[in-house]
Amino acid sequence: MAEYEYETHEYDVVVVGAGGAGLRATLGMAEQGLRTACISKVFPTRSHTVAAQGGIAASLGNMGPDSWQWHMYDTVKGSDWLGDTDAMEYLAREAPKAVYELEHYGVPFSRTEEGKIYQRPFGGHTTEFGDGPPVQRTCAAADRTGHAILHTLYGQSLKQQAEFYIEYFAIDLIMSDDGVCTGVVCWKLDDGTMHVFNAKMVVLATGGYGRAYFSATSAHTCTGDGGGMVARAGLPLQDMEFVQFHPTGIYGSGCLITEGARGEGGYLTNSEGERFMERYAPNYKDLAPRDYVSRCMTMEIREGRGVGAGGDHIHLNLNHLPAEALAERLPGISESAKIFAGVDVTKEPIPVLPTVHYNMGGIPTNYFGEVLNPTKKDPNAVVPGLMAVGEAGCASVHGANRLGSNSLIDLVVFGRAAAIRAGKVVDRESAVPSTNTASVDKAFDRFDGLRNANGGTPTADLRLEMQKAMQADAAVFRTDKTLKEGVEKMTAIAGKMGDLHVTDRSLVWNSDLMETLELANLMPNALATIVGAEARKESRGAHAHEDYATRDDENWRVHTISHVDDAKVKLSHRPVITEPLSKEKDGGISLKTIAPKERTF
Ligand SMILES: Cc1cc2nc3c(=O)[nH]c(=O)nc-3n(C[C@H](O)[C@H](O)[C@H](O)COP(=O)(O)OP(=O)(O)OC[C@H]3O[C@@H](n4cnc5c(N)ncnc54)[C@H](O)[C@@H]3O)c2cc1C
Repeated sequence: MAEYEYETHEYDVVVVGAGGAGLRATLGMAEQGLRTACISKVFPTRSHTVAAQGGIAASLGNMGPDSWQWHMYDTVKGSDWLGDTDAMEYLAREAPKAVYELEHYGVPFSRTEEGKIYQRPFGGHTTEFGDGPPVQRTCAAADRTGHAILHTLYGQSLKQQAEFYIEYFAIDLIMSDDGVCTGVVCWKLDDGTMHVFNAKMVVLATGGYGRAYFSATSAHTCTGDGGGMVARAGLPLQDMEFVQFHPTGIYGSGCLITEGARGEGGYLTNSEGERFMERYAPNYKDLAPRDYVSRCMTMEIREGRGVGAGGDHIHLNLNHLPAEALAERLPGISESAKIFAGVDVTKEPIPVLPTVHYNMGGIPTNYFGEVLNPTKKDPNAVVPGLMAVGEAGCASVHGANRLGSNSLIDLVVFGRAAAIRAGKVVDRESAVPSTNTASVDKAFDRFDGLRNANGGTPTADLRLEMQKAMQADAAVFRTDKTLKEGVEKMTAIAGKMGDLHVTDRSLVWNSDLMETLELANLMPNALATIVGAEARKESRGAHAHEDYATRDDENWRVHTISHVDDAKVKLSHRPVITEPLSKEKDGGISLKTIAPKERTF
C-alpha cells in the first residue's frame, strides 16, 4: 500500500473548481455563512470560463419584447426535446434574476444608449418577435463576457471570506461505505504535499472534457476530472454522446470566433461566394443553432464547395461591418483572427471549421444541483453529500444540443441553486464527517501507481491516439461503421492505460504526472461518449447519425446513463422529465406548447 502523509481540512462545503459555476456556488455558500473552501488546479481567473466571449442569455427584454416562456421554449426546442423540462423552466425563469445579481456584484456589461444591459442576437433563440434575426437576449460585456464574470465572482467570493486552495489538484472523491460523499483527496502542485478535505457537501464544478478531441476550443485544462472521479466512485455519467461542435473555430488552431460575430451581422460563405445558410435556414440563416450550422458547413465541404487550397473549410465574413462596430463590439475576436489566422477582419474573411466546443453530457443532477444515481425504482435518486454544477454537470438543460449563451447562464443559475439548496440541507451544527481512511488509501494507491508507471507508452502518445480516434469517429456526422470502429479503437486505447510510462517521479510541479492523472480522467469520458453514440440509433441534436436520419421519440427520448469501469461501459436509460414546474394557469407554460415537433429554422 502506498504511504503518503497528509494534512486534514474540515469544511461545511468544498467546491472543486473555480470557473463561473464553482465561483457562483462558492460565493452563494459563503454568503449564507457556510464554511466554504474552493479548490482549483489553476488560478481561479484562468479557468476556461475566462475565454467565454459572446454572452449570457436572459429574457431581460432590454432591446425589444421577450419573455422567460420564450427562452424556455427555445431551450426545449434547442435541446431537441431531450432536456429535463423542470430544469429548463427553472433556468429560463431564474435567468433575469441571476443576471441582475451579476450586475449588482459589479460585472461591467456593455450598455444601450439608455444605460441598460446590452443584448445581442444569438443562434437558435426565437425569431418570433420580428422578421429579422433572433431576439436580442444575450447580455454581453463586449466579447469578453466570461472574463468579466469570472473576475467579479472571484472578488466577491474573497469578500465573503470563502477560502481558496489554488493549484491543488483533486485526485478522487472520498466515499463512505454506504455511498455518501464525505470529501475529496488533493495533491498540492507547488510543494508536493497531500491534503484530505472532509466536508458535509462536495460540489464538483470541474468543467468539460473538450480535450478528449484533437481540435477543441476549450482550454488544455478541460479534461473532465469531475466525470473521471465520479466514474471511479461507481457513479454514472449521462448523455455523453452529445458533443457540440461550434461552427466557427479558426481553421488550423481551433481558437474560437464567437457566435456573437454572426449576432452582430457576420455571415458564412462557400467557395462560390454563396451565403449558403440562406438556403438551409430561410428564417434563422447564419443564426440557426450550432448543431445545424455545423452540419450545413460539413455538407458544403463534402459537396466540393469548401474554400482554401484543400477545399476543406468555410469563410466567415465580417468585413462588410463598420470598423468602429468591430472595434467596439468584437475587439477580442478581431485580435484572435489576426494572431491565429493572420487576417484583418475589416478587410478579409476568417477561415473557419466546426470545432469541438461543449459537452452537453456530464454528471446527472436534478435542478438543485444534487447528483443523481438513478435506480430502476427511483430514476431521480440523489447521492448524499455530492453536487455537480456547470459544464461538468448535466441538469439537463441542454439536452442534445446547447444554445449559444445558455452555458454561462447555466453556470450562474445552477451555481446559485446549489448554494440555496446547500443552505437548506447542510446542517451547520453537525460534525464534519471523519476521514474514511479506506477510501483515502484507495486514492493514494491509484495516484502512486500512475506516479511510478513504468510501461512502454508515454502519456502524450496515448492522449494523441485517443484524441485522433475521437476526432475521426465521434464527429459531426456519424455512421454505424465509424462508431463501431470508434468503439473498438477506444476500447483498445483505454486498455493501454496499464502500459503508461511516466518519466518524472517527483511530487513538486510534476506536469508529467498531472497530465497522466488528467488522461486517466479523459479516458472514461471519451469511452462513454463513443459507446453511447454507437448505441443511440437515431439523430437528435448534436448526434447526427447518417444511418438513422430522423429523431425517434418513441424509442429514444431517454437519457443515456453510462457506468464506466476501466475499458468497459455499461449503458442503461433514465426517463426524460417532461412536466414543467408550473402550470399554464399560474403564468407557466402548457405541456401542449412544448410537445415535441420537428425542428425547423
Ligand atoms: C472559447 C469558449 C467560449 C465560450 N463562450 C461562451 C459564451 O459566450 N457563452 C456561453 O454561454 N458559453 C460559452 N462557452 C461555454 C462556457 O464558457 C463553458 O461551458 C463554461 O465556462 C464552463 O464553466 P465551468 O465553471 O463549468 O468550468 P470551467 O470554467 O472550465 O472551470 C473548471 C474549474 O475546475 C477546476 N478543476 C478542474 N479539474 C480539477 C481538479 N482535478 N482539481 C482541482 N480543480 C479542478 C479548474 O481549475 C477550473 O477552476 C464558451 C466556451 C469556450 C471554450
